Amino acid sequence: MTPPGQQLDLLIVGAGPAGLSAADCAAREELSYLVVEKGLIADTVYHYPVGLTVFSTTNELELRPGALQPCREKPTREELLSHYVRHVLEQNLNVNTGEEALAVERDGAEGFVVRTSRAEYRARRVLFAVGSMARPRGLGVPGEELPKVHRRFVEAYPYVRRDALVVGGGNSAAEAALFLAEEGARTTLAIFRADWENRDPKQGAIKHWVRTPLERQIELGRLTVLLFAGVEEITETDVRIKKEDGTTIVLPNDVVFVLIGADADLTLLKRLGVETARSGACEVPVYDPDTFETNVPGVYVAGHFTHARHIKAAIEVDAHGDDPDRRWRQLHPREPLAAAAWQRTTSNKE
Ligand SMILES: Cc1cc2nc3c(=O)[nH]c(=O)nc-3n(C[C@H](O)[C@H](O)[C@H](O)COP(=O)(O)OP(=O)(O)OC[C@H]3O[C@@H](n4cnc5c(N)ncnc54)[C@H](O)[C@@H]3O)c2cc1C
Repeated sequence: MTPPGQQLDLLIVGAGPAGLSAADCAAREELSYLVVEKGLIADTVYHYPVGLTVFSTTNELELRPGALQPCREKPTREELLSHYVRHVLEQNLNVNTGEEALAVERDGAEGFVVRTSRAEYRARRVLFAVGSMARPRGLGVPGEELPKVHRRFVEAYPYVRRDALVVGGGNSAAEAALFLAEEGARTTLAIFRADWENRDPKQGAIKHWVRTPLERQIELGRLTVLLFAGVEEITETDVRIKKEDGTTIVLPNDVVFVLIGADADLTLLKRLGVETARSGACEVPVYDPDTFETNVPGVYVAGHFTHARHIKAAIEVDAHGDDPDRRWRQLHPREPLAAAAWQRTTSNKE
């Protein structure tokens, strides 16, 4: 709770890489700031599959150059999570976990009131760094609410010698299918032909280091790739799937993973009057690409629910983010700007 009459310079919603990067900026600038996080520090990373090796290199993920030192070339989920948690602890960042922002409203002429599940705060500026995992997409078919149907994949071990179906065309689905097949689940990956045949990394093709072992599992007969048109029904014991040729197949089934993406929850932003626009399959807030300020003065956005789709862009402070000196040179210590306003590229200004 901000004491009566006091106002934070900046309130940040979300402690993912984007929110933590902004908090780091705010702390260095000696702003009064607070991050409220409804889950855990780096909650999205926490929910990656156990033991996953991420696809980015350390320089694309770390909050300080050289701070993330994995055992192998790329970090695991656990190493990345530990990096973000340690950063919060070592820098003593003001992060409240288990506290959800429920409403953000204008507070007179300047500033905002942020009501959370625990308190009420006043802040001059608000940065939304809420990510895009709030609403996992579903199939909209009968049986989808059965307890055996999951929207997240955590680990393979409960499904050894079980009949598992993974639905999805991206890396998350492919990796889940790979982990399941490798650990002895009888696995089917239901995927659209266009996704299976996509080899363009810029169009979200399955990464080659996932595809190669996946194909090995297919050769070994442990994984079936089913080019499908849609799931028709899920029951306690099986799934009915429409194949791409229009025929229907019924598979015995113990568990289903629906990994077809997720959407951000833009409710709080929209209630404030922030405009949104379509970008591919997603709805994104409209914002100034230089300052990350939305059409509502004082409301900023950063991270995965903007046009930044990876951690590298979510935490980038400027185009020379690898160089700590240049990274901070443009900051103006006594000017209480929102940290998001600094998350701009300097390339077009030099
Ligand atoms: C399995 C998997 C592997 C991935 N691997 C990589 C990789 O190798 N490299 C890469 O660059 N990207 C990877 N990504 C994507 C990456 O996780 C995201 O780009 C990144 O998490 C985005 O950071 P963010 O801070 O914008 O959002 P998030 O990390 O999603 O953080 C948003 C935070 O906001 C919180 N929040 C939301 N609403 C509220 C609210 N109302 N009140 C309080 N808190 C709220 C959420 O709980 C969450 O912690 C991967 C994603 C997945 C699922």
